[in-house]
Amino acid sequence: MQPEFQTLVAIKNAIADKKVSAVDAATYYLNRIEQHDQNIHAFNELYRDYVMQRAAQVDAGQITGKLAGVPIAIKDNLCTPYGHTTCSSKMLANFKAPYMATAVQKLEDEGAIIIGKTNLDEFAMGSSTENSAMGMTKNPWDTTRVPGGSSGGSAAAMSADFAAATLGSDTGGSIRQPAALCGVCGLKPTYGKVSRFGLIAFASSLDQIGPFTRTVEDAALLMDVICGHDAKDSTSANLPPADHSLQLHKPIENLRIGIAKQYMSDSNEPAVTKAVENAIDVYKSMGATIVEVDLPHTEYGIPVYYIVATAEASSNLARYDGVHYGHRTKNPSDLYDLYAASRAEGFGDEVKRRIMLGTYALCSGYYDAYYNRALKVRRLIKQDFDKAYEQCDTILCPTTTGVAFKAGDKTDDPLAMYLNDVYTVNANLAGIPGITVPGGLSEEGLPVSIQLYANAYEDAKLLRIAQMFQTATDYHMLRPELG
Ligand code: GLN
Repeated sequence: MQPEFQTLVAIKNAIADKKVSAVDAATYYLNRIEQHDQNIHAFNELYRDYVMQRAAQVDAGQITGKLAGVPIAIKDNLCTPYGHTTCSSKMLANFKAPYMATAVQKLEDEGAIIIGKTNLDEFAMGSSTENSAMGMTKNPWDTTRVPGGSSGGSAAAMSADFAAATLGSDTGGSIRQPAALCGVCGLKPTYGKVSRFGLIAFASSLDQIGPFTRTVEDAALLMDVICGHDAKDSTSANLPPADHSLQLHKPIENLRIGIAKQYMSDSNEPAVTKAVENAIDVYKSMGATIVEVDLPHTEYGIPVYYIVATAEASSNLARYDGVHYGHRTKNPSDLYDLYAASRAEGFGDEVKRRIMLGTYALCSGYYDAYYNRALKVRRLIKQDFDKAYEQCDTILCPTTTGVAFKAGDKTDDPLAMYLNDVYTVNANLAGIPGITVPGGLSEEGLPVSIQLYANAYEDAKLLRIAQMFQTATDYHMLRPELG
């Protein structure tokens, strides 16, 4: 069996059945990264020796589990006690975490092999990976274009077949948007399904870890492994263990698909509109009914998100002062200078912009006008979804307004960059799950996707609905040609 562009499920089965050794599978990915990653720059760090050592242990039967021998890459904001955890920031360039993120520990407990850490926009703030202090990641479909962000390294690594799956984090779209631009599946689970312990915080009420995979089936398997209550994260939900894989291939009967006019803007690129219309036809041919739903507060998503997320970020990032954590300036003149210079040198422009915006929104004179008002509108956005789910099982919409844009196109215009998240942030504000599924190629040969939402804690149902689409289509088999 050749691991090339195989699904995670196929690889784990092949290793379990000894059709391929874990060492051969690991070698395949490491060679592929060696050959192509200087053009893509998906990785910040690779764990070659650790990978080969664990693979040999899998082959010797010393490591077992649901994911035994499966190479998985993780976003470089997930802590591991080995290697560095940098958030693609100068601030944490030398940071070695003293502990392991729960989600990563759960992967290792099932025998997965962490192959390396992937690039991101600094502290997960951005939509293109151009904000990385380690240099940008390129889109494997066209290296003049961005892979999306902030988990652009994880999306590009998945798309370029550098690992059997990858993990990312999604605060306002950072799994789903890069998944869309790189032509892979990306799931943002319900807030609280996956422990955030060991995920370096950006905006704690919005952040959620989730998988990038080739198929929905692979995402379901990873969710089975990584979700669950964790005493170390008080916001993780205390629910009975969920089995996302068990019912996955059972289609939902009498499926009702919600379409909201607020997501079907005329300014979407035609390829995006076509992908959504095509998906409507696919679901109709499987007997689904289409219902119109109204999400009247959709347009407030971006302003609310950029108040709530920056407010939380300004508080979370206060710890990087060169004393508690992070880069410390050389030869400060006094204590104030130590803090100020360490932060000025350690943070990039976008992170500074977010800290300033968030601090402004939280300062005493403006707290009610901005932060409190944003929280009220956040509630209205959540209520829109609650009402919509009385009429439908899922909402089908685009993930992005267009295909991957050219590197440099939006770097001088922060607002244009923020508007990338127009179809993704509301899921984070409402805490509901959302999944990006490949939906074909545009005329220029770039990936387009569809997005599906479901009600909170209906992740298993959402995966079943997404699986129905992949059963009927083969867009997820499309792959880029690497030069
Ligand atoms: N692009 C959004 C931002 O810049 C989302 C980031 C994320 O989900 N981490 O904030």
